[in-house]
Amino acid sequence: MKFVVKVYTAITFFGLLALSPAVLRAGLTSEEVKLFGDYMVKAEQGDPKAQVNVANSYYFGAGVEKNLRQALAWYRKAAEQGYDWGQVLLGAAYYGGEGVPKDFAQAIYWYRKAADQGNFKAQYHLAICYANGEGVAKDFVQAVAWYRKAADQGDSGAQYGLGRSYAMGEGLAKDEVQAVAWYRKAAGQGDVKAQCELAVCYAYGVGVAKDGAHAVAWYLKAAEQGNSKAQYFLAVCYANGDGVTKDGAEAVVWFRKAADQGDAMAQYNLGYCYTAGVGAVKNHAQAFAWYLKSAGQGYEFAQFALGICFSSGEGVEKDLTQAALWYRKAADQGNSFAQSRLGVCYQKGEGVTQDFAQACKWYHKAAAQGDAQAQNNLGNCYFEGLGVPKDLVQAASWYRKAAESGNADSQHNLGHCYFEGHGLPKDLVRAVFWYQRSAEQFDHESMCHLGDCFAKGQGVPKDETEAYAYWNLASVSYEEARKSLESLEKKLSREEIAAGQKRTKELQKEIEAKTAAKTAGK
Ligand SMILES: [Zn+2]
Repeated sequence: MKFVVKVYTAITFFGLLALSPAVLRAGLTSEEVKLFGDYMVKAEQGDPKAQVNVANSYYFGAGVEKNLRQALAWYRKAAEQGYDWGQVLLGAAYYGGEGVPKDFAQAIYWYRKAADQGNFKAQYHLAICYANGEGVAKDFVQAVAWYRKAADQGDSGAQYGLGRSYAMGEGLAKDEVQAVAWYRKAAGQGDVKAQCELAVCYAYGVGVAKDGAHAVAWYLKAAEQGNSKAQYFLAVCYANGDGVTKDGAEAVVWFRKAADQGDAMAQYNLGYCYTAGVGAVKNHAQAFAWYLKSAGQGYEFAQFALGICFSSGEGVEKDLTQAALWYRKAADQGNSFAQSRLGVCYQKGEGVTQDFAQACKWYHKAAAQGDAQAQNNLGNCYFEGLGVPKDLVQAASWYRKAAESGNADSQHNLGHCYFEGHGLPKDLVRAVFWYQRSAEQFDHESMCHLGDCFAKGQGVPKDETEAYAYWNLASVSYEEARKSLESLEKKLSREEIAAGQKRTKELQKEIEAKTAAKTAGK
C-alpha cells in the first residue's frame, strides 16, 4: 500500500515525513502523542479529515502503537461519511489486503465512490483495476476513461497509463504521438516509468523524431532515480556512443549500478567490459564473476560467455566439462553461438563423449539461425559423412550459405567443390572466384590454390608471375605453397623472379585495401 505515503503529502497529515526513521520506529514522542490526541478529539467529534489522520497514525504507528485494524476502522468511518480520501484509503486497504482480507470487489466499491467525487487517486486506481481486470471484467475502454479523468487533473501515474494505452492501442486507437505527449507530461512530473518510455520513443523515433541526445537525457533522469532498466540503457548509449560521446568508463559506471540491482543484462555487459577492457582494466576473474551472476538468472549470453571462460581458462580454471555444460544451457535457450560451440564440443569430444550425430544436430540448429561457422561445419559433416550420410550436394549447399555471408573457410570449401565438381557441376572459373574471396581474407590455403590455378591456367589465363605472387604470400604458413614456389623459382630467370616479388607486394597491398574497405563498410 505504498501510495498512502504519497496521499499523506497531498492531505493533512503534515510533519510525519519529516520525522527521523528512529522516531518513526518509536513513533511515540510526546509531540507525536499529543498530535494524535488532538486528531482523536476531532475524529470522535466526527471530523472526517481527523478520522483519516487518526487512521494514518495507526497505519504508521505514529503517536500511537501501530494497529492496522484500528487504522481500517477509522478509514471506514471517514469513508462512510463520504470523505473521498477515506474512501480511497479504505479501497487501497482492501486492494492490498492490509488489516483486512484482500477483496478487489470492495476495493472497486470504495474507489468508485471517491472517483465519482472527482478524487484523482481513486480514478487512477480504478483505471488500473479495469486495465488488469481486478474486481471487474477487464475493460480497456473504461480504463482509458478513468486514466483520462485523473490525467487531466495532473496525476502522473494516470498520465503514464494513458500514454501507455495510446502506445499499445488499448481502449482507443493506437496513436504514438499522443502516447509521447502523455509520457512527456508524466515524465516532467518525475514519473520514472514515463521517463523510460519517453527515452525509448526518442531512441527509436516512435511518435517523435528520433533524437539520441533526448533519449539519453530522459534515460539519465530515470537512471538517477535508480531505475535499473534506465541505468542499463544509459550504459548501452555510452558504450555505443548513441546520443552521447562514446565513453566506456561511464558505461561501466551505469552498467554497475544496474548490475548491483540485479539486472541480468547489465551484469553480463559489465562482465564483457572486464573481458574486453572497455571502460575498465581487463580482469578475467571479475568478468567471470559477473557472467556467473547473470547466467544464474538464466541470461543466455552470459551462459555462453561462461562456456568460453571455462573453455579458455580465462578467469577460472579450464574445465571442458563445465564449458560444455554452460554451452548447453545457452544452446537449449536457442543461442546460436552456443549451439555452434556445443556442436564443436561433440565433434571433438571436448567435455562430452564424442558424438558426430549430436554435433550435426547442434550445427544444424545454429546453421538454421544463420551462424556461418556452424553452416561450414555442417557442410564438412555432409562432405565427410560424419553423423549424417555423406551428401556432397548438401555439403556444397551449406558451404554456399556460409560463403555468401563471408565465411573464409566456406569460401575455400565451395571453391574446392567447384574445382572438383563435388555436389555441383565442375566450374573452374567459379572455383577461382571463391578461392579469391577467401584469399582476400588472407586464407593461405586458398592463396596456394590460386597459385596452382595461375600456374596451370585453370579458370584463369596462365600467368606465372601471378602464381609466384600467390604462392609467395601463402608460403608464410602453407608448406605446399613454399614447395611450389621453390620449384617455380628454379625455372624462372632472375628478371622473372624480380617481377614475381614486385607483384607479391602489389598483391598484398590490393588485399589489404579490400580488407580495409570491408571494415570501413561495416
Ligand atoms: Zn584446399
